[in-house]
Amino acid sequence: MKKIIISAIFVAMLVCLSDIHDAKAAWFEPMKIHFLDVGRADCMFVQMPNGENILVDGGDEHDAARIIEFLQGLGVKTIDLVIATHPHHDHIGSMDEVLETFSVKKIYMPNLPYDTSFYHDLFKVINKKKIPVERAVAGTSFRFGFSAKAELLAPGASYYKYINDYSAVLKITHGNNKFLLMADSGVAAERELLRSHQDLQADVIKVGHHGANTGTTMKFLKAVSAKTAIISCGSQNPNAYPSNVVLGRLAQLNMTVYRTDQLGVITAISNGRSIRFKTNGF
Ligand SMILES: [Zn+2]
Repeated sequence: MKKIIISAIFVAMLVCLSDIHDAKAAWFEPMKIHFLDVGRADCMFVQMPNGENILVDGGDEHDAARIIEFLQGLGVKTIDLVIATHPHHDHIGSMDEVLETFSVKKIYMPNLPYDTSFYHDLFKVINKKKIPVERAVAGTSFRFGFSAKAELLAPGASYYKYINDYSAVLKITHGNNKFLLMADSGVAAERELLRSHQDLQADVIKVGHHGANTGTTMKFLKAVSAKTAIISCGSQNPNAYPSNVVLGRLAQLNMTVYRTDQLGVITAISNGRSIRFKTNGF
């Protein structure tokens, strides 16, 4: 009997020790957020320290090959979580082909049926592969092991005047480092976030709506108080994004700005304490 009890204690200690080891390993593993170069569109891929991943948006109509090649280059076979921030073509344009290529566990999107070919194509794949769809709504959170989590801060309401304001806003935390991905949120969404009393502070902000002057207000930037801004934009676009007004605000706050049109793919690498950036060019 004594022997059995001692063996049981020994096994319990081993289990405990392996848990501590895993927790430590996850803490020291980096978290990477890749901001893909998809022109005036959005596509981000997050590699969590526990090995899971998130795809945020799926580029525009002709970006599928570029996105798929990038993910395959990272050795991705399964995408754990997909977030389609809102149904505009520059966010879901190539998502159908990406979902077709990889195994996908779950997709979150705002409750906003949208009558376009892109939306219908996306749902054709979702239905064919029976991918579970959940409603993206503020307050939803996801844990990735011991050191990382992701939370949806928006949308908080069920109706907005502009489709961009339905954007799923994602805050990712790894250790002490925080990243705020604004999708295409405009002034109304920013106002709602400010009123929500959620913790908006972040080290890095992926600026809303490709840097257009439809948001990224001074009041909002001050509340977030990020040191670094990422802008996903194309070099030649008729809308002249990013706007000089927005760039002026970022400069006024002495923020470092990384733009996909100038640097290609931008990767933020977090070790839980500090963040370094890697780009295509250097
Ligand atoms: Zn957009």
